Amino acid sequence: MPTGSSRYNSNYVSKKCATDCVANKCVTFSKNVFIPVTNVCRNDCAYCGFKARCPEDAYLLSEADVLRLLQTARRKGAVEALFTLGEKPEDSKFPPYKSWLKELGYDSTLEYLRALCELAIHESMLPHTNAGILSYEELRFLRDVNASMGLMLETIACVRAHERSPGKKPELRLKTIADAGKLRIPFTTGILVGIGETFSDIVASLEAIKRLHEKYGHIQEVIIQPFRPKPNTPMRNESPPSVELLKRAVSVARRILPAEVAIQIPPNLVPPRRLREFLELGASDLGGISEVTLDFINPEAAWPSEKELATAVKPFLLRERLPLYPRFVQRGWYSETLSALVKRHSDAAGFRRRDA
Ligand code: SF4
Repeated sequence: MPTGSSRYNSNYVSKKCATDCVANKCVTFSKNVFIPVTNVCRNDCAYCGFKARCPEDAYLLSEADVLRLLQTARRKGAVEALFTLGEKPEDSKFPPYKSWLKELGYDSTLEYLRALCELAIHESMLPHTNAGILSYEELRFLRDVNASMGLMLETIACVRAHERSPGKKPELRLKTIADAGKLRIPFTTGILVGIGETFSDIVASLEAIKRLHEKYGHIQEVIIQPFRPKPNTPMRNESPPSVELLKRAVSVARRILPAEVAIQIPPNLVPPRRLREFLELGASDLGGISEVTLDFINPEAAWPSEKELATAVKPFLLRERLPLYPRFVQRGWYSETLSALVKRHSDAAGFRRRDA
């Protein structure tokens, strides 16, 4: 992996950072490639600009498409392959989807996803899959080919924005997160702020995540993600949450969640000059940024570059992590399948190795 070129070095700290991170003055991010496997989804969330809303817009990426993205990302030094897709696309009202899968040689999305994860591993990338709600068996099927997995809780409240989305029932999402814990999968979850919930709902959502982490110890980070209105969606005229509300959410999250659970604030969804305010309130992760693909959930919001991030977070120090957090690297929460790759990509403290 071309991780040792001089363009990576100027804004980074290596050994020095380890000490600073202990003092919580370090902020982490991951270098990823965002792979939107399919935009076919059985749900119909009122704020969603990702899901195909008409048949002409629907797609399913082929293995050749995915391979091209993986190889480009690898050349640019990314290590995380983030697979995102609509939930249970076979159950959508879009009949051609199953024939597309068949044409690719697969009977189910899950089988296809597993094959894509294997492709990523073959390209020396660590997969992180976010496929919506999955059963215990489905999670187990994907576990050994994923370094970590994710599912946004979004909110524990029943909001109008989810009335046409069977997969957004809070109890179903909590079950998937719990099942991931039973399987010892390092897990990312989060809340979506501004979709009709109250502040008490935000607190209740964070407390529910905390309870699951206390039971299973598998939550690595909680994303505080702001809703952003999208054209051609039912919520296109709604206002996004204010920076002040997001800051309150970060503050309360830091108070509720155990210290080992990081709070992530997406750096392309808050004004860069205000990023540091979130760090001062306890956010300590900036999620994945990609040089190869867009944020397909918020395509209007470009990722900042590593250099821009390093400047925006000063005096905090920017440090790259893998899709699984350092403590899960150190605890060995990864499969035999991924063992060599995790070891190759991580340093002694479990962060991304920059001198490979
Ligand atoms: S937000 Fe996710 S679950 Fe909801 S419609 Fe969009 S892709 Fe589907």
